Amino acid sequence: MAVVSSISGPIVKARLKDETPALFELSYVGRDGLIGEVVDIYGDEVVIQVYESTEGLTLRENVVFSGEMLSAILGPGLLGGILDGIQRPLPDLDFHIKKGVKPFPLNREKRWHFKPYLKSGDIIQEGTVIGEVKEGSFVHRIISDIEGKISFIAGEGEYTVEETVLKTEEGEEIKLYRKHPVRISRKFKKRKAPEIPLITGQRIIDFLFPIAKGGTGSIPGGFGTGKTVLQQTLARWSDADIIVYIGCGERGNEMTEVLTEFSRLKDPKSERPLMERTVLIANTSDMPVSAREASIFMGITIAEYYRDMGYHVALMADSTSRWAEAMREISARMKHLPVEEGFPSDLSSKIASIYERAGFVQTLSGTEGSLTIIGAVSPPGGDFSEPVTRHTRRFTSVFWALDRELAGARFYPAINYIMSYSSYPQNVSRWWKNISPEYDELREWMIYILQEDDKLQRIVKLLGMEALPEEQKLVVETAGLIKEVFLQQNAFDPVDAYSSPERQIKMAQFLKTMWEFWKKAHTEKAIPVSVLKKQEVITEFIRSKYSIKNDQLEKYDDLIRKLAESYRNLIATYGE
Ligand code: ADP
Ligand code: MG
Repeated sequence: MAVVSSISGPIVKARLKDETPALFELSYVGRDGLIGEVVDIYGDEVVIQVYESTEGLTLRENVVFSGEMLSAILGPGLLGGILDGIQRPLPDLDFHIKKGVKPFPLNREKRWHFKPYLKSGDIIQEGTVIGEVKEGSFVHRIISDIEGKISFIAGEGEYTVEETVLKTEEGEEIKLYRKHPVRISRKFKKRKAPEIPLITGQRIIDFLFPIAKGGTGSIPGGFGTGKTVLQQTLARWSDADIIVYIGCGERGNEMTEVLTEFSRLKDPKSERPLMERTVLIANTSDMPVSAREASIFMGITIAEYYRDMGYHVALMADSTSRWAEAMREISARMKHLPVEEGFPSDLSSKIASIYERAGFVQTLSGTEGSLTIIGAVSPPGGDFSEPVTRHTRRFTSVFWALDRELAGARFYPAINYIMSYSSYPQNVSRWWKNISPEYDELREWMIYILQEDDKLQRIVKLLGMEALPEEQKLVVETAGLIKEVFLQQNAFDPVDAYSSPERQIKMAQFLKTMWEFWKKAHTEKAIPVSVLKKQEVITEFIRSKYSIKNDQLEKYDDLIRKLAESYRNLIATYGE
């Protein structure tokens, strides 16, 4: 026990009486039993970060240490849940929770149909799948976190999460739920190179700046550039099995909007409510900042738990800047020496500790699973040189830089294709080559055209298109079509919102074939670009993005045939 010796917002100091708690030990502060975490210990004093409002707390109230670290409760029933940063359920989107209660986050009464895989006498190890329950449309594997010889295993039947379903001769037990400290990553057998893309249906992402399953990505962008829309688009369309979505520090009404939107959406493939494969964690700006700090680690731990069952999980955090601001506030209260722009000196390692938990792994059970982590960053004033953006960039392999100018021009997703990068194209190339052997070539060509265009745009802005020689006009016009038709994608258009990888390839093939005919027309007959771009097939292609569906790709083959025919004719007859 200890007694409160000073209070500064969420930071409480307490003088130790008898025992010494461990760093990160969960504590109950004061009469209300406010939930907190020990973040510093020196001499006979501890610093506790309290996850709820300390209003009304007074000096000399008692502090009790729980003997545990802040942990996630992991078991069936997490999917579809809406939780706060320390896993308290938020029923009916009510962000105001009673003080000092940490209700059990899973349904205690609900019975799950358990099917055992093993029998008495069998030997189990960490990672042994002892049985399963059905959670919605998912097989929820119950995985052993202990070793030993089974002395009892429950028969097939209905059990609550707190009932014991297995005992070992060594005297240990397994229930349908378990606890895991949020700041410690869950074990796996080994890491594997991330080589399968997380397909998002967004062309600029999948084709140009892909993210691998198990990879890390960041979405930096100023206010209103489309971070939240993009995160939600990814949550909706990406081919992850399970989504963990963390709304971090947004205003309450904005968060309510996100949550309502989510409850309404359907999974495009299974047609089932998107919520069935989603866990939402909400920490609005009016909720205590320290819980915001914990929320990301809570989300990651839940995500790892499903990864360990052999699922591909994608975690979105919106926004990690609000998360970092929470740490800045806490650190100021603790009177730590601020380092960069008021952020604590461990900002960089804290950011690293998020992204290092991503990965494509072989699980302890021997299956494959992955955790992809994508964080939005909202730099003040859109200045990418500020600390959170800078450090995030170091620890993420994909950087989708959102651009104010593009957003202003309603060019969505407003991803700046010159500033953005991905380090995964080589990793995922083999996967793409199964879709089309031309993937690398098409992608490199497209990037080449966009980069050449970027250089020429300076001249175009200064002197106008007319100042360019014909050959360079070809580049600028081709890039124009790439941007208009391929890169821009309306998240709200029923046909274009999701573009399958096959459709992405077809569209790229059309553009590259067009470019080759244009060059030929230029060298052989000096046909001006103004003539080339006026061919009817080009107009048809521009319109096609809102009409040709993912299951009508033969229409793209028709368009490419028509393209070839129309330019062959033009070249043959031009000037006659
Ligand atoms: P941020 O989270 O960066 O502040 P939002 O994601 O809330 O910005 O986007 C702001 C607005 O921009 C949205 O309300 C929407 O009107 C528009 N927008 C953003 N992305 C898209 C998109 N992909 N397609 C269409 N409109 C978009
Ligand atoms: Mg936003």
